[in-house]
Amino acid sequence: MLGGRTNHWGRIALRNGPYDFKPYSRHGVGFDWPISYEDVAPYYDKVEMLVGVFGTNEGIENSPDSSPGVLLPAPKLRVGELYAQKHGKKVGVSVVPIHRAVLSARQDAETIPAKLHPGNPRAQRILAESMRSRAACFWGTDCHRGCAIKAAYDSTSVHLTPALATGNLDILSLAMAREVTLNPQGKASGVTFIDKRTGQEGHVAGKAVVLAAGSQESVRLLLNSKSSRFPQGLANSSGKVGKYLTDSVSSSYGAHIPAYEGMPLHNEDGAGGPHAYVPWTLLAENKEMGLGFPGG
Ligand code: SF4
Repeated sequence: MLGGRTNHWGRIALRNGPYDFKPYSRHGVGFDWPISYEDVAPYYDKVEMLVGVFGTNEGIENSPDSSPGVLLPAPKLRVGELYAQKHGKKVGVSVVPIHRAVLSARQDAETIPAKLHPGNPRAQRILAESMRSRAACFWGTDCHRGCAIKAAYDSTSVHLTPALATGNLDILSLAMAREVTLNPQGKASGVTFIDKRTGQEGHVAGKAVVLAAGSQESVRLLLNSKSSRFPQGLANSSGKVGKYLTDSVSSSYGAHIPAYEGMPLHNEDGAGGPHAYVPWTLLAENKEMGLGFPGG
């Protein structure tokens, strides 16, 4: 589907923290990334300004703040979140506003485009028009069915529409990418695809090929791209492509909370998910594997 994973992503837009880039130094497990949080932080700011993210800066260790003026205002917490926030304090658990890629207010189309595309007036104009076409969320509908007013971030609204406006983008829909093709030097030269309506094979050539199909579809394409030079698939000399995949897992439980009994009727509309989250704060305890596991 056009827009892919961004259509049904929950839009929780928290940053990785400095320790997440250096797990070996911190916990003695895994590998340190060759880049640090400080290298990535300016790009986090740019992405957040581009897509529109609400939240607050709480100054929590390893749960980084955004630069001033980047985040949109956070919506009020709901009753259950306020209750958890109040009582979490007693046991040292923070409950703070989440960061979510939904417009709680219109984006600043007057200043953001110049920050994202300095010295490029055409790009600034196209981006400003795109930002003005997005309205603020009215907290009333199911974001996972698509957001008609473009308050929720998805790539179709936020990237493809302005990219089409440049006149430099062609979209081949219903084209199932099959493999990355290589030139005689072993560099990516294009993508072979199957037209899903006709079953016919097609090919697009490119100076560069970007696989941005998520952790599993991108892996499928790499493993599909076998050749005499790369018999295990592309970028897989280690044999690790497609191994050690993980995902964010969720669980839930229900409970009867007497304090909620007899509560007046009130409106709990809001974003398509929680307005609050619990950042990991036992960092001192799990340093050097003191809790028996890394991270939170
Ligand atoms: S609740 Fe979701 S779908 Fe409805 S306007 Fe807000 S972001 Fe869009």
